[in-house]
Amino acid sequence: KELDIANPARTRAIMNTYGLQVKKSLGQNFLTDQNVLHNIVFTADISQDDNVIEIGPGIGALTEYLARAAHQVLAFEIDDRLLPILDETLADYDNVEIINQDILKTDLTAMVAEHLDNERPLKLVANLPYYITTPILMNLLAGDVAFENIVVMMQKEVADRLSAEPGTKAYGALTIAVQYRMAAELAMVVPRSVFVPAPNVDSAIVKLTALPPRTHVPFDEAAFFKVVKAGFAHRRKNLWNNLQSLFGKQAETKNAIQTALDTAGIDPKIRAERLTVDEFITLTDALHQADL
Ligand code: SAM
Repeated sequence: KELDIANPARTRAIMNTYGLQVKKSLGQNFLTDQNVLHNIVFTADISQDDNVIEIGPGIGALTEYLARAAHQVLAFEIDDRLLPILDETLADYDNVEIINQDILKTDLTAMVAEHLDNERPLKLVANLPYYITTPILMNLLAGDVAFENIVVMMQKEVADRLSAEPGTKAYGALTIAVQYRMAAELAMVVPRSVFVPAPNVDSAIVKLTALPPRTHVPFDEAAFFKVVKAGFAHRRKNLWNNLQSLFGKQAETKNAIQTALDTAGIDPKIRAERLTVDEFITLTDALHQADL
């Protein structure tokens, strides 16, 4: 039997056979380490009962592991040069479907309805193309496809931001955007040496798990994200100054901001990085009540 795709020698052989030059612009760094792949499948807790969506199958290293573990795999790959390769490398698996499409232009709701059996738990697993990590995550979080969990590899620095705790340097608007909807944990740090070609940064696997529906929600989500973004607009300024930049410096506005902070029980002098998701929700509602 042939070796797993995730093996440096086989990966190079496949690339040579097809004359494939990786495109850096598409974030093509192929995984060649079976321990890392085991770890991804283990972290995502994939069983034969599950359907899995993969973003960017590449030459199929992760796809193969997903195909072995899951019921069905639906993978989106933008680069059509990889299609004949995937046809060959995944020939043994009849539960994988590759869609040649840009994930950022994909209507996932429609795709899931069309290609997958809706009764099954749905998970998303990917070794992400790093140049679009944030837009992909934002789309997944804002979309209405309900994933039981999302297990994704990304650059370590971004992984640190997603899983950050309040009061740390990595904690910011991205942390809150993610943790508003999912619980985030850093599952594994992955050295650059396990990829072909090796990227310029180390990587990490993050697990996002669906939270039970929030009981404490802001009066308006758009307003909440606006306050969060403004709170972190100038990281060295305190909350009071950042809120003034958002709402204005007129005396009346200052009074309203002060009232809102009092109502929310938040010290104006602290920095946004100290506020939890719940405190940002309380603050958003208090600002609204103060007519801001
Ligand atoms: N899954 C493979 C692995 O682990 O070895 C490849 C991962 S590689 C880091 C990222 C993959 O995403 C590449 O195959 C790349 O062509 C694909 N990709 C890049 N941009 C994409 C997009 N907008 N939509 C779908 N796939 C994309």
